Amino acid sequence: MATAVIIGGSTAGLAGALALARAGHRVEVLERDPGTPPGRPADAPAQWQRPTVPQSVHSHAFGSLGVNLLREEYPEVYRELVAAGAAEIRLGDRKPPFLDDPSDRPEDAELNMLACRRSLFDLVLRQAVANHPGIVLRTGCTVRGLEFAAEGSPRVTGVRLEDGEQVAADLVIDAAGRRSPVGDWLAAAGLPAGEVRSSSCEITYYTRHYRALTKAPAGPLNRGFGAGGLWDSYTAVLFLGDNDTFSISLGVLPQDKELKGLRTEEAFTAAVAATPLLAPWLAPTVSEPISPVYAMGGLDNSLRTAPAEPVQGLFAVGDSAATTNPAYGRGVSLALAQVRLLVQVLTEHPQVGAEQSAAYAAGAERLLRPWFEDSVQNDAGRAGLWRATAEGVRPLGPPPGVLTFGQVAEAGGTDAVVWRRVARMMMTLATPETVYADGEVRDRVLRALSGGSRPGFPGASRAQLVEAVAKAAANSDS
Ligand SMILES: Cc1cc2nc3c(=O)[nH]c(=O)nc-3n(C[C@H](O)[C@H](O)[C@H](O)COP(=O)(O)OP(=O)(O)OC[C@H]3O[C@@H](n4cnc5c(N)ncnc54)[C@H](O)[C@@H]3O)c2cc1C
Repeated sequence: MATAVIIGGSTAGLAGALALARAGHRVEVLERDPGTPPGRPADAPAQWQRPTVPQSVHSHAFGSLGVNLLREEYPEVYRELVAAGAAEIRLGDRKPPFLDDPSDRPEDAELNMLACRRSLFDLVLRQAVANHPGIVLRTGCTVRGLEFAAEGSPRVTGVRLEDGEQVAADLVIDAAGRRSPVGDWLAAAGLPAGEVRSSSCEITYYTRHYRALTKAPAGPLNRGFGAGGLWDSYTAVLFLGDNDTFSISLGVLPQDKELKGLRTEEAFTAAVAATPLLAPWLAPTVSEPISPVYAMGGLDNSLRTAPAEPVQGLFAVGDSAATTNPAYGRGVSLALAQVRLLVQVLTEHPQVGAEQSAAYAAGAERLLRPWFEDSVQNDAGRAGLWRATAEGVRPLGPPPGVLTFGQVAEAGGTDAVVWRRVARMMMTLATPETVYADGEVRDRVLRALSGGSRPGFPGASRAQLVEAVAKAAANSDS
């Protein structure tokens, strides 16, 4: 069995450590962040400062691909999460109210989610790793470079730490996230790093966490895992969390100057209050805020394609391999699926070498490319609509014959076949092709929408939103 060193101890690195150790490898995880806070896991999200994982304070939906993998492959972690307060959600129990056929189908059993803050998720994973006898977890430990068999050799033999220490390994797993330095290290060593395709998601997120003071939901849970909508100049989504918490995330165009004020608590609250679907959740008897407003921009859809001859023994998992717009909630699922793929490849091709590298590169490409392309396409359509609204011009429609996500989602509110296909795609259980390239789905969508648009869940108009943010800014200045 091999020795593996993992750069990064967040979702991908921690899940990778558990999976590789279970497959019999000796594993060392090197994480630059200091250790986790002491005390109960449920208290950790408020205390765990993770500057190198800024998304950890933003809302996370844990989709079915990842949740099912967790249940099947890491059942002890799944049980721990539920024991620590994560709530199990079955989307089959939360179908839209006006479906033409509300009956259950066997495949609905796969539509599982977890309502949980991201910090709690990682904390429980970290505890499982720390308690695993076959894994060494070193925190406060920054990797600064790769080691190779010889200068210019296409085979990695370990990593170098900040203080110069070398950690030897047969396998090096790059789980260093969206800003992974590994590509730069390869280029500096004159080795092929592969091509990175990348385009802006054109969205900035603002998130705030709340503690619920009542048991009953304050409004309709139209997303199953929470409530939300995508309107003509913003998106607002409420995510149910662990331990009676929930969070709300607002997304706007990064260059939308009139909405920049959302980073203040006053403007954030005003924008939610202007959104009829979510406003009731902020009533003083319903919830209290438990965090400031967090902002995060600079988000890309990205895909790293392996070069023709990848460096041997080096594998990227998680965000270092691909990122998609967080709005689609796929990052954690794709990270866990890449980990499963890596373990399969190492089992089928135990010898470090070109064959092993090529098998992983081909599998990762098959897994990741459809989601990257889907995300790029959806973001272009949505950003175009938001820009047109902000500029007060008529938005361009999709090319003739092309179904949009908005259309299929709307049709899924009444047609059970479309609902199931869309739900499986959103949960990363079936590829976008199964929705957009299927004749039956197309016919059903067109039929469902032929009577005109149905009233959806209400958001604020552009004018209402801008006014709410401006008023809040004026009030906080005076
Ligand atoms: C705003 C936002 C919201 C999101 N919402 C969702 C969601 O709803 N659902 C979902 O599934 N996904 C979501 N995602 C995506 C998800 O957060 C990522 O896919 C996930 O964090 C990927 O995990 P990772 O382990 O690959 O990377 P990260 O979590 O970024 O972790 C990388 C780790 O590597 C460490 N590291 C980096 N460099 C070094 C080094 N040189 N030496 C040692 N350690 C190093 C870092 O400290 C960090 O701990 C969201 C992302 C964003 C930005």
